[in-house]
Amino acid sequence: MASLPYIVGNWKMNGTRASLSEARAIDRGAARLPKVQVAIAPPATLLHRTREAVELIGIGGQDCHAKDSGAFTGDISAAMLKDAGADFTIVGHSERRTLHAETDADVRAKAEAALGAGLAVILCVGETEGERDAGNAESVVGGQLEGSCPHSDGAVDKLTVAYEPVWAIGTGRVPSVDDVAAMHKAIRAKLVSIYGEAGAGVRILYGGSVKAENASELLSIRDVGGALVGGASLTAESFLAIVGAAAALEDN
Ligand code: PEP
Repeated sequence: MASLPYIVGNWKMNGTRASLSEARAIDRGAARLPKVQVAIAPPATLLHRTREAVELIGIGGQDCHAKDSGAFTGDISAAMLKDAGADFTIVGHSERRTLHAETDADVRAKAEAALGAGLAVILCVGETEGERDAGNAESVVGGQLEGSCPHSDGAVDKLTVAYEPVWAIGTGRVPSVDDVAAMHKAIRAKLVSIYGEAGAGVRILYGGSVKAENASELLSIRDVGGALVGGASLTAESFLAIVGAAAALEDN
């Protein structure tokens, strides 16, 4: 049976307690759209409060450290995310890979730590504009998957991959339908080569400037199993419009 479309909001470094009203509104809206699986990744400071504020939607971290505990000032372990109420964590977001120089090996270690703590994982991959222009997008993304996919027992069952072209994040630019389709097909093939047949069941999200206006087109593409949404996830109104677009496709 095909899994429900999965729409995940990444709030990044945005949100204070005042944003809990948006989380509650997203939760209420998601309850009216049961054919879509909805989750948000608020900043870590809000995880616990968000867990208490919502009933239905998933809650996740945006990153975790690879170690369980220790002298890592400012970092947060997967076990801490779990304790604060998280169901999953994002790892390997391009902002972490670029601004914090995270390598594929770092991302894999974080993914393994998250799985070990009982969290599901959303693993982000994506090429820069220069890499796409040079014709290397698929090989770059394939290499990221080879280097950062977790391999522990049962990993494939708790893994979601998010294809997020770096040049599409926060820019208002999106790849063509053909380019998204080609990349998702390539990611599917790579996941099958890594995990065997189980790789065919991993959900692959598209992320990068998803909005209500382009959500239906993007979500209709073969092998696009949902969306990872940044800017448009910050208000319930704009996020639920995307969730609604996903629900409408399920109804058709
Ligand atoms: C993201 O950073 O994960 C993202 C998809 O951002 P935006 O939707 O704002 O492009």
